[in-house]
Amino acid sequence: MGGSSLWFEPSQDERALIGAVEAFLKDRAIPTADERDRAGVFPHRLVGELAELGVFGLMVPEAYGGLGLSAVTAMRILEAIGYADGALGLTVASHNSLATGHVLLAGNPAQKERFLPKLASGEWLGAWGLTEPQAGSDAAALRTRAEPADGGFRLFGTKQFITQGSVAGAYVVMARTDPAPEGKRHLGISAFVFERPPEGSGFSVGRKEEKLGLRASDTAQLVFDGLLLPQDALLGERGKAFYDVLRVLDGGRVGIAAISVGIGRAALDLAARYAGERTAFGRPIAAFEGVAFKLADMATELEAARLLYLRAAALKDAGRPYTLAAAQAKLFASEAAVRAADAAIQILGGYGYTLDYPAQRYWRDARLMEIGEGTSEILRLVISKKLLESL
Ligand SMILES: Cc1cc2nc3c(=O)[nH]c(=O)nc-3n(C[C@H](O)[C@H](O)[C@H](O)COP(=O)(O)OP(=O)(O)OC[C@H]3O[C@@H](n4cnc5c(N)ncnc54)[C@H](O)[C@@H]3O)c2cc1C
Repeated sequence: MGGSSLWFEPSQDERALIGAVEAFLKDRAIPTADERDRAGVFPHRLVGELAELGVFGLMVPEAYGGLGLSAVTAMRILEAIGYADGALGLTVASHNSLATGHVLLAGNPAQKERFLPKLASGEWLGAWGLTEPQAGSDAAALRTRAEPADGGFRLFGTKQFITQGSVAGAYVVMARTDPAPEGKRHLGISAFVFERPPEGSGFSVGRKEEKLGLRASDTAQLVFDGLLLPQDALLGERGKAFYDVLRVLDGGRVGIAAISVGIGRAALDLAARYAGERTAFGRPIAAFEGVAFKLADMATELEAARLLYLRAAALKDAGRPYTLAAAQAKLFASEAAVRAADAAIQILGGYGYTLDYPAQRYWRDARLMEIGEGTSEILRLVISKKLLESL
């Protein structure tokens, strides 16, 4: 008995698309995820193969060579990639939501024409530089500056923790172009989009980070020492980029929520399988409530997290405000993923603490989801502010 599908279930078309991505990941990504984690090297070849499925242009219109998917479908695909490998998930999500998302949101027709086809095909990976060594959560405290020069701008400053920083073909970078009016630090910041400049032209890749998790994703510092940008590198309105940044981050947060659900589900599947096979006191450990109830909580929280990210994505698709929904989805999903991975380690006992099983990788990967694109504390600020405003 089929019955009609419910709003939160994938349609037949979505299932076919997600199925194709999952089949690829099962064959090419899942068996080697531990190896990539240990090597901590960016997997250019695998990323190239993944790009052939179109996932680097999830929401880019077909006219620019993208898949033109709704946010709901795009997020389901990110969940599938996060399930296979959190590092790949972050790579694909940040490329789609941040750099590409910013060009989609604020690019003029010429910028869209120039950047979107190459971003969508994966020929250029996109990096998005907001964070600086001294300014993360307090992004308006950024010090990178773009000074008017030679008919364009010269860029000075350092960006920190930039995903795809050392491997990108295109960059979106936020910099101060104008002094902030008294009490309005968010004004005077502009965004720039440009192709990867040659090293030494006032651009260099600084330190590459050794990370706790997501080790096969690329995280690097970008150093600008007078890079000359033409006037047409300005992305969106001069001095008003902060508004676009907040909208880009809303989209990004839904993506982080989706990857989180993927990582959490991977932890759940591992723990459930293990609990069915491992015996203690003459029974599979799954027969003990102390273990089975952990599985029940993991499954329930992850399902709730999925509904939250689907709801945020559906609001985005409907053109309705979704800042609150995105913050709630990311906050809940990232914390649920960390709890799930932590429970998986516990269910696997001593084996969970070894590198022989990926439970520890899931925990290490999930942990970033509570930090990047708005820490849990910042999200609680966003949520409580919205709540109090509505009183
Ligand atoms: C792997 C990785 C990839 C990343 N990718 C990118 C990227 O592609 N592009 C990019 O621009 N950035 C990127 N980031 C940066 C990331 O977004 C920041 O690390 C994050 O926003 C936190 O900023 P911070 O590290 O400076 O911490 P801080 O802002 O210094 O925060 C430190 C602690 O103080 C808390 N805190 C700060 N302010 C408050 C407050 N008002 N109330 C309560 N608590 C507060 C924070 O929650 C946190 O616990 C990445 C980071 C990592 C680790």
